[in-house]
Amino acid sequence: MNSNQKKTSLLIILCLLAALAIPLSIRVLPRPGRTHRIDLEAVRYGYSPAKIIVNRGDSVIFKPTSKDVTHGFYLDGYPVEFIIKQQGIAYQKYTWEDEKGNLKTDWDKVSEIEFVADKPGKFTFRCTQVCGNLHPFMTGELIVRPNSLYHVAVSLSVWIVLSLLLWFRQDLKPKHGRGKKINLMESIPGLKWMVKRRSLQFMLLFPGFIIFYLFIISSLWGTPVGNRNITIIIVWILWWFALKAVFVPLGGRLWCMICPLPAPAEWISRRSLTAVRFIQKPIRGLHHRFIGLQKDWPEKIRNMWLQNIIFMLMISFGIILITRPVATAILFLAILAATLFLVLFFRHRVFCLYLCPVGGFLGNYSMASVTAIRAVDPEVCHKHRDKCCLSGGPGGWACPWDQYIGEMNRNNYCGFCTECIKSCPKDNVGIFLRPFGSDRMLKGYDEMYNVIIMLVVAIAFSITMLGPYGFVKEAANVTESRQMLSFLIYLAVLWGAALVVFPGLFILTTKGARRLTGNLINGKDLTLRLSYILIPLGIFAWIAFSLPSVMVNYNYILIVLSDPLGLGWNLFGTADAPFNPFYPEWIPVIQGVILLTGLYLGISRGYHGLENIVQNPFLRVKALILPSLFALFVVNILLKLYMG
Ligand code: SF4
Ligand code: SF4
Repeated sequence: MNSNQKKTSLLIILCLLAALAIPLSIRVLPRPGRTHRIDLEAVRYGYSPAKIIVNRGDSVIFKPTSKDVTHGFYLDGYPVEFIIKQQGIAYQKYTWEDEKGNLKTDWDKVSEIEFVADKPGKFTFRCTQVCGNLHPFMTGELIVRPNSLYHVAVSLSVWIVLSLLLWFRQDLKPKHGRGKKINLMESIPGLKWMVKRRSLQFMLLFPGFIIFYLFIISSLWGTPVGNRNITIIIVWILWWFALKAVFVPLGGRLWCMICPLPAPAEWISRRSLTAVRFIQKPIRGLHHRFIGLQKDWPEKIRNMWLQNIIFMLMISFGIILITRPVATAILFLAILAATLFLVLFFRHRVFCLYLCPVGGFLGNYSMASVTAIRAVDPEVCHKHRDKCCLSGGPGGWACPWDQYIGEMNRNNYCGFCTECIKSCPKDNVGIFLRPFGSDRMLKGYDEMYNVIIMLVVAIAFSITMLGPYGFVKEAANVTESRQMLSFLIYLAVLWGAALVVFPGLFILTTKGARRLTGNLINGKDLTLRLSYILIPLGIFAWIAFSLPSVMVNYNYILIVLSDPLGLGWNLFGTADAPFNPFYPEWIPVIQGVILLTGLYLGISRGYHGLENIVQNPFLRVKALILPSLFALFVVNILLKLYMG
């Protein structure tokens, strides 16, 4: 470390101390205790007041009543739980120990509930009685001041940006190419043998395939109550979380390898489940004869714009989709029909490449994944005339995603199917472990829009589903609320933010970045490189958003496993698993840590992504300033929603 770096390190540490000291010092300010009498009204799907703000040590007295059906009230982090009936009748839960030391619970009929708000922070209160389609999203917020953890998270977010910019000013050695790659096929015994099996993909896919089609049956003929239907719970709680938190960061598009939706079309087009049908004389460059017309996807729409639009359409009805089993079934059946229809006309997995609403962000986010399928030595590929990975060989199908592994330098369009590993006669394809955030190059505005849309939707869903505002839920839940005008306003705000406001703000920051760097760099190149910042940030934002569904609603998973069709079964004895959130008071803290990690990874990887186009480290830092502030802005919106 040279002397400049030492000085910078000292400055960064001093900034960290300040970032912690300032918000924590607010904690010690004296606040006089008060008593708050609150008339708490519960009505589908919110509470009034939705947000309650008190000081630590204040007494809170609720006078609850319901304006429609029976609701519940469960306050995270406090032993306060009651059932709210109409006309001001409530039943408060209390626990006691019997003579043998067993914990017993019972309900007391009350008209008021009193407690002392002695723990500072943000605490969500939730409905515990199934009250309708949006029951899992019926929440309110209690904020007990001083909310120091939120203030610490905000000042740490500023500190992260500041210290990264300070540190990178000292960083004179470019990092690209420095990340070590490990070929897992060489280092994990047995992996190569397993991946080379023709049956691997089928064996991994088939159990999920059967379960998936059972889910469709359950969506159509099982209970219509969303949080009692196995499809809704497993797909939109478990799968959605696993996709963002496990599949994408660890395996890129690994999900696409086992996705049951395009599988039937692929099997039909190949007329085979596992075996390769190799023909010696290629037909239009491929050594296979597929069914259908085998056209190529039109050049003009070989991009993500259609995926972006389809994703926005899907998201517009997001709250309906994730609470109505029939809507989910219709979506799946529509996708299945589209894949079967397209296979009659086009070769390759065109649905996955250009239409799948999930595939779009899976592709972009998989750029950050710690694994990648790549050529071991691209030179060997260049010299190999046959290019079996692209055209097919006796051992493997031609790349279904139309990718040439010899030149592939991003994960975006690699479906992880492992066909190229099987088809390569030179054994020149491996599965590599690499640092998080290694592919750092977006290639078009369609991809940039996709990552911005994903961020905006994470914010929009956080407000709609996790937030306390009943009127927003009503607006989004149009098929039940019938509030068409509110729904149209909701759509206008969502589409406007995703397609105009946030992209506009981001492009402004990149224009500013170009100006700060003396207009020396091509504007489009700079914008696309800088937009990489939003990929790690987006992944972590989605993990933070999805976390509460799992920690709060895991009992639904246990219930539907025992009673998958909602027919009163109890297969594993968990059909009556009580609503018992898992350390819910820790959710805001964990979400804060996740968001700060995403901010750090986004800016640091974004900086390294600039190394190829901006040689001077000072200019790189200058280019990074405004987009980093944009990332800081996004993180602070989410911090406010989760912790503030
Ligand atoms: S792109 Fe979509 S449909 Fe295709 S495999 Fe991936 S998730 Fe499934
Ligand atoms: S064949 Fe290879 S490059 Fe093509 S999608 Fe499958 S794993 Fe990726």
